[in-house]
Amino acid sequence: MPLRPDDKHELAPSPSLPNPATPTPTSASPTILPICQDIAGRVNAFLDSEPETPLLRQVQAQTRVALGVISAALERYSLPEISLSYNGGKDCLVLLILLLASLAHHPPTLLPRKLQSVYIISPHPFAEVDAFVDGSIDAYSLDLARYTQPMKEAFRLYLREHAGVKAILVGTRRTDPHGEVLTHFDATDHGWPAFMRVHPVIDWHYAEIWAFIRHLEIPYCVLYDRGYTSLGGTTDTHPNPALKAGNVQSETKEQSFRPAYELVEDKAERLGRDW
Ligand code: ATP
Repeated sequence: MPLRPDDKHELAPSPSLPNPATPTPTSASPTILPICQDIAGRVNAFLDSEPETPLLRQVQAQTRVALGVISAALERYSLPEISLSYNGGKDCLVLLILLLASLAHHPPTLLPRKLQSVYIISPHPFAEVDAFVDGSIDAYSLDLARYTQPMKEAFRLYLREHAGVKAILVGTRRTDPHGEVLTHFDATDHGWPAFMRVHPVIDWHYAEIWAFIRHLEIPYCVLYDRGYTSLGGTTDTHPNPALKAGNVQSETKEQSFRPAYELVEDKAERLGRDW
């Protein structure tokens, strides 16, 4: 589907990609293979297509790089040693999709029933984010461990309770805080619990993340349609001022915002966050 500048409405979920906003009954399937195959089919169709815009050509190249990094991680580590850091945000959503697509090529007998993942809940979570994460558990067969402690302590606990995990896939990008110096594989440092951080989308640009999500019609958290461009907690995250719409809703006097995917500049992404 080509990206159209005037296409502002929330995308209808595609016929076969499950929508995390509407949880489906738990699958009786013994492994995650069916969802992996479905997603791999979509990703491969995208990669095999002639891109309709220069942006989509870039996204194809980024997708190939990210799949290469995930494939390297799957060679270095067994699946029980791998986890995904997932909070329902757009970057780890792309990462989740690419990981599932990669697993379609993994030996089926080695596939788990659910994908190991970890979510550190914000002290002031958005109900919309929690609902999207809940929906992701069903839609993508996640085995999601949740923690409420501060990040470092939460990972310490997670690794204690999941002693086999050695590598965690993280959706950090270059323009995120601390993203500047990261590579595809970075061991933790500065007193963090020991694990390998894997960053398959580190060099994706903001616009590329959205082009991937929209082109593949991947359902995403509703807050992004209300002008939020990066999701934290309710006390430190606001709609991005760069997306202020000209009009103010006359009845509520509320300012309205354009959707996150209309922002283009990487450096404007975190203008709606206080940290
Ligand atoms: P967005 O920037 O739109 O919120 P995002 O959450 O995917 O998207 P970041 O907030 O930049 O991206 O965080 C980078 C990555 O760090 C995430 O993709 C995710 O892998 C990991 N991460 C961040 N916060 C959490 C959290 N609270 N729990 C689990 N993983 C997290």
